[in-house]
Amino acid sequence: MGEALSQRALGGKPSMTMAITAKAKALKAEGKDVVSFAAGEPDFRTPDHICQAAHKAIDAGMHTYTPNPGTPALRKAVCDWFKTEIGVEYAPENILVSPGAKFNIYLALQAMIDEGDEVLIPAPFWVSYPEMVLLAGGVPVIVETDESKGFELTAEMVASKITAKTKMLILNSPSNPSGAIVAPEQITAIGKLLEEKGLYCLSDEIYHKLIYGDSKHVSIAAVSEYTKQNTVVVNGCSKAYAMTGWRIGFSAASARITKAMADIQSQSTSNACSIAQAAALEALTGDQTCVEKMRVDFAERRDLIVKLLNDIEGVTCHIPGGAFYVFPEVTGVFGKTLAGKVVNTPLELCEVALEESLIACVPGEAFGSEKHIRLSYATSRQQIEEGCKRLKKLIEG
Ligand SMILES: *Cc1c(COP(=O)(O)O)cnc(C)c1O
Repeated sequence: MGEALSQRALGGKPSMTMAITAKAKALKAEGKDVVSFAAGEPDFRTPDHICQAAHKAIDAGMHTYTPNPGTPALRKAVCDWFKTEIGVEYAPENILVSPGAKFNIYLALQAMIDEGDEVLIPAPFWVSYPEMVLLAGGVPVIVETDESKGFELTAEMVASKITAKTKMLILNSPSNPSGAIVAPEQITAIGKLLEEKGLYCLSDEIYHKLIYGDSKHVSIAAVSEYTKQNTVVVNGCSKAYAMTGWRIGFSAASARITKAMADIQSQSTSNACSIAQAAALEALTGDQTCVEKMRVDFAERRDLIVKLLNDIEGVTCHIPGGAFYVFPEVTGVFGKTLAGKVVNTPLELCEVALEESLIACVPGEAFGSEKHIRLSYATSRQQIEEGCKRLKKLIEG
């Protein structure tokens, strides 16, 4: 009796990206020369001026709980930041600061989804969306996108999956894992569709500062008063400011939704770390040139990795518009014997790559694809070159 775990715990899966990262780290700890393309985080240090703000907060004695939804200064700063970044006006009562954007997403689903509600999730998708929908009692409904069109989501694709039970659409543009960006005209069309059908939207915009070339970020919250009131916009410090370990995420939504999310936070984690909130305040209000510097660096590495991957037989990689991942198609490798093992799935390819060549990539299965693998280029050029060389040797012999 005492050993029984809950149905919820037994039904859940640990994140596959975290599992591969952990295995790669363990091999590294054994002294193995692993090239890791698995990380879902920037490889930059948090910029100095942001770290300084944290030192100051410690010295100033900011050692106690803050208000549950975030410090007044940070909530106000998040409003101003959203105004600049997505052109939507919010008041502090619309803002919830949480221990990571991931938790804002979790809270939104807990606050808005009931048993049996359908939630539309475009594929390929970030690993945690379907699991979090299930944890809220909802039903994940996958919306397939078309690789030949760069995995771009259209309003038509969304419309085809709407039923009487649909409650919410999850958007993630730029996307993890594909890097795809939803085109501005599609954002408008999807916004109209949501209004017509009376649906909620959860817009995960955590990569919106990492967009390359001519693509433009448009938030669905900016489409109309309806979408502003019925969308939870999620963003945070992790990706744009290289602050994954600090755990600061935030969301903007109607005061009603925000309060519902904040109430759940108050009964679970309470406020995000006080020192990290002080650092986040500096990140959002201080010098922004660090963000652009990192973006330019990522853009160059994206071009390098796409070129090297397309030079491998059986691997096809399109150029992603944003984030720091590539999502090459690897079906051309299936059926081959690599290092004595027949490879027929992305997972099998990733296993051989890690075990035989010490390259860590994440299998597409984690993101709802049987044809792709995900490589993060948030690593040095030297590692990108070495890793692609090893992969080429493994596949071509
Ligand atoms: C990294 C990531 C997040 C979570 O960011 P945290 O603020 O570190 O919790 C959310 N969504 C996507 C798609 C991500 O890749």
